[in-house]
Amino acid sequence: MAQLIDGKAVAARVRAEVKAEVEKLKAERGLVPGLTVVRVGEDPASKIYVTGKKKAAEEVGFNSWELHPDDKITQDELLSLVDKLNKDPAVHGVLVQLPLPKHIDAERIISAVRPEKDVDGFHPMNAGMLSVGKPAPRPCTPFGIMRLLEEIGYDPAGKRAVVVGRSNIVGKPMALMLLAADATVTVCHRKSNLEAEVANADILVAAVGVPELIKGEWIKPGAVVIDVGMNRMPDGKLKGDVEFEKAKERASFITPVPGGVGPMTIAMLMRNTLEAAKATL
Ligand code: NAP
Repeated sequence: MAQLIDGKAVAARVRAEVKAEVEKLKAERGLVPGLTVVRVGEDPASKIYVTGKKKAAEEVGFNSWELHPDDKITQDELLSLVDKLNKDPAVHGVLVQLPLPKHIDAERIISAVRPEKDVDGFHPMNAGMLSVGKPAPRPCTPFGIMRLLEEIGYDPAGKRAVVVGRSNIVGKPMALMLLAADATVTVCHRKSNLEAEVANADILVAAVGVPELIKGEWIKPGAVVIDVGMNRMPDGKLKGDVEFEKAKERASFITPVPGGVGPMTIAMLMRNTLEAAKATL
């Protein structure tokens, strides 16, 4: 039976580490990290995420602001808002919550955030820095997963890692981080033979968005299973991308949904914002 990886506890630890550093930064350098989240319109999931981010930012001692333009805002207006934040020295992290309304080109907005303030790690410059192995803000979800692996004492070096999903925010950066940690990495998508690939995985990261797509019986005995999926079911409960009950009988470690990867994303956002502030010293 697999051991559960308690993302809630690890995330609390990360936030406590950030808080301690913020206190030191305030006392010794008079610097308070600042995070601004821009939430456009009334997407209900975005409202929940942004509330969580603001709460965490306040808890660790950041200055935090939420800007909430309505969904009539034009692309040019949003670009000039981002430009203002780029120039504001009190703001070290700028996060434009996705999704954006259809009339706005999200890629243009992401690219407009100064790479140093891109605490989501989505800017093409920061994606490139990850790709060439240079320090830069890392996408929070895969960054959090690397921390979870560290916490369970799992070294990916020489292991076969299989990442299911190739999005720019989870799958691709996850694959690059595991590669940087010397794993042998396979990235799967809709055209992959999932069952055959998953069966080889010493470490499996599922970031698909289809409830229980990965069957428990496919899991290699002893594998570490990281489930990024957050699928809202008709009964309101969250389900992962992995068939949890069966997978946990084969895996050595597994993340639950909820309470696994989810809390790490916000915690690593706090870490990225702190690092962005420190970089201005
Ligand atoms: P996404 O942009 O929709 O990408 C999904 C990926 O899964 C794509 O690469 C897609 O393949 C692949 N895929 C979809 N159906 C598949 C299938 N039947 N077989 C094989 N591959 C398939 O999703 P995302 O933004 O990466 O998010 C993935 C999941 O993670 C979602 O449930 C999301 O809610 C969750 N998530 C959680 C957190 C967190 O904090 N815990 C953060 C971000 C995302 P193609 O490229 O071939 O289309």
